[in-house]
Amino acid sequence: QAKALGRNTYSFFTEEMNAIMRRRFAIEEQMHTALARNEFTIHYQALFDVQTQNISGAEALLRWHNATLGQVTPDEFIPIAEHTGLIVPIGKYVIKQALVFLNEWQNIDQQKYSISVNLSPRQLRDATLIDLIKDALQDANISPESLQLEITEGVLMTGQAYIQEALTNISDLGIKLGMDDFGTGYSSLSYLRQYPFDVLKIDRSFIYGIALNKADCDLVKATIAMSHSLGLTVVAEGVETQEQLHLLNELGCNFAQGYYFAKPLPANQLLDFSASKKKK
Ligand code: C2E
Ligand code: MG
Ligand code: MG
Ligand code: MG
Repeated sequence: QAKALGRNTYSFFTEEMNAIMRRRFAIEEQMHTALARNEFTIHYQALFDVQTQNISGAEALLRWHNATLGQVTPDEFIPIAEHTGLIVPIGKYVIKQALVFLNEWQNIDQQKYSISVNLSPRQLRDATLIDLIKDALQDANISPESLQLEITEGVLMTGQAYIQEALTNISDLGIKLGMDDFGTGYSSLSYLRQYPFDVLKIDRSFIYGIALNKADCDLVKATIAMSHSLGLTVVAEGVETQEQLHLLNELGCNFAQGYYFAKPLPANQLLDFSASKKKK
């Protein structure tokens, strides 16, 4: 009996592993031609000034729909794109598109906004990254200060020289550097001193509890105070309730994004959303 159960458990496990491996393989295979087939789109999530509650910019978030695989989430395909190196051409596409979009948005609304783009470590290793960013800024007629590049702490953990060099080059161009998902990795504090960050984004797992328990609230409060004393601007990620927003305002948090304000939207829908906010 026990033996039979053991065998069943075992075969169930391998079947599941097989399914995971097959999906991974299919994602990798399909990704090679996905750019050429125009399967990637970019959604934009609005970023809000906590005090004024006006839109100050947006974050570009990649979306992939494939005929065979259906919708594939970034959490599923970004690590594979990173592993294969395909993140380099895909990331290039995101930077170019996002800047063209920002130019259009600013022209329509007749005001300045910022755009945030996520960067993978593999992209920092690409020697052509800086020139590509310069060209994309120029082509879209966007000033460097309007672009923010976001990286997670995990990127910095390897401590490799090319990372320091790439981040310094980016910062020297006048582009803003943001540390994404702050608090989810470790040794974050020394990274803030070592690299030229301008913005710190508090991970949504910390924002979740601020209106529910004092410990989380105190932690976020201390993070904001520390960031400000280091000259960093603070963004709260994953704001979902009015109570959270209210607290963040009291704590002096600068910007916020999250479902409370807006989900990531296709470009045309973000333009409509932005226009509707301006009319009020
Ligand atoms: P991220 O940069 O931290 O982006 C924020 C993620 O949180 C997004 O997930 C967004 O949809 C989600 N989010 C925003 N507000 C809320 C909220 O109120 N509640 C909850 N539960 N979630 C919220 P998404 O779009 O699935 O992206 C996941 C991650 O994939 C991103 O995390 C980023 O690390 C990566 N990613 C997305 N696009 C790109 C890209 O173009 N290049 C690279 N390298 N990475 C990307
Ligand atoms: Mg991000
Ligand atoms: Mg994040
Ligand atoms: Mg993330």
